[in-house]
Amino acid sequence: MGNSVVVGVNWGDEGKGRMVDLLTEDHEIVVRYQGGGNAGHTVINEKGKFALHLLPSGIFRDGVVNILGNGVALDPENLWKEIEEVRAKGIVITPENLKISDRASLLLPWHRLQDALEEQRLKEKKYGSTKQGIAPFYSDKYQKKTAMAGEMADPEAFAAHLEELREWKNLTITGVYGAEPFSRKALEDWIREYAEKIRPFVCDTGSYLREADAAGRHILFEAQLGALRDLDLGIYPYTTSSTTLAAYAPVGAGVPAVRIENVIGVVKAYSTCVGEGPFVGEMTGEEADRLREAGAEYGAKTGRPRRVGPLDLVATRYGAAMQGASALAVTKLDVLSYLEQIPVCVKYRVDGVLTDEFPFPTLLDRAEPVIRTVKGWHCDISGVRRFEDLPQAAQDYILMIEASVCRPVKYISVGPERESIILR
Ligand code: GDP
Repeated sequence: MGNSVVVGVNWGDEGKGRMVDLLTEDHEIVVRYQGGGNAGHTVINEKGKFALHLLPSGIFRDGVVNILGNGVALDPENLWKEIEEVRAKGIVITPENLKISDRASLLLPWHRLQDALEEQRLKEKKYGSTKQGIAPFYSDKYQKKTAMAGEMADPEAFAAHLEELREWKNLTITGVYGAEPFSRKALEDWIREYAEKIRPFVCDTGSYLREADAAGRHILFEAQLGALRDLDLGIYPYTTSSTTLAAYAPVGAGVPAVRIENVIGVVKAYSTCVGEGPFVGEMTGEEADRLREAGAEYGAKTGRPRRVGPLDLVATRYGAAMQGASALAVTKLDVLSYLEQIPVCVKYRVDGVLTDEFPFPTLLDRAEPVIRTVKGWHCDISGVRRFEDLPQAAQDYILMIEASVCRPVKYISVGPERESIILR
């Protein structure tokens, strides 16, 4: 199959985790290359049901090596808790099957605190942050005010570096927000309780991957969130603080010259969006409640009810183009089975003018969805495994996506389990 990237085409939560879990069959290495533990992948397989936040979704396959690349927000505290949680369900995690890049920058304990303080300051203008410290972390990374995981190899120098950073950060915590300073003791506790625990997993994953690539081993790159949350090309400022695009995978993994054969863009059969920001097709009332219930649309990290809407072909076409998707995976098609008629957003109307183009972010508030209704299949499709066996209306729904987004739909997911998949 060659090297592949699994990315989100929409606002995130498209079901990337279940696709990575499936595709690890054909890849020996899985790399998370950006983002942090601020969202979650849900994976259901023969070993159980898991909510992953930072761990790559290949962690369940024997023989697969999982890597956290230099592009991730490495939060030792959350990562260690997640490792313990997953281990408690019988999954073996050792430095053999989990490797952390020595160049991954550390999300420090005050990043979460600063995130919460800023959301509090913004009041009703808040971004809807998950308060996991991701925005302060990436800001500090670009200001070169955090530390890299590899620095832990020299504990004294590492502690001294963090102490300098703590003093600097306290200027903001006390001066800007008027909050209590982050104490030296709390930092020392954090180093002992969390940073030290993940040290055995840290190594030069860049050279590991470059060698693996040269030897022809297949690598799967796993992204977090979706194209519309990309810092550069998404719905800024309601984006995340990292690059969610496939194009960043080689850099965020530390293997810049890698050739990627497959970019699999994951599209949900309808739309969901967590947090604040414009969401053109948003449904409300009973219609929204029914869809939310049918799709169990509650955040994996926060439990927040997700905002829901119809499939948005304008946003999906844009997202697939930004991802450079070579193929699409449509997930959660089974969720729409309760509908006799399915609404689809086919265009936007901005200031009275119809458009197929995804608008500049500040215009999104003025965009209205143009909804067309298509025929539903209105029967259980979760047991179907061949495209030809889908009801005609379900086949037509997929063909409509393909024609509108101009990319082949190669995977259709009809249930959360690994085997609930139709390959085309
Ligand atoms: P990710 O972050 O992109 O991996 O997405 P999430 O894990 O947040 O959301 C996907 C959710 O949908 C998870 O709970 C999955 O178990 C579930 N899921 C994935 N594919 C399907 C599907 O085809 N049908 C149904 N019913 N659920 C699915």
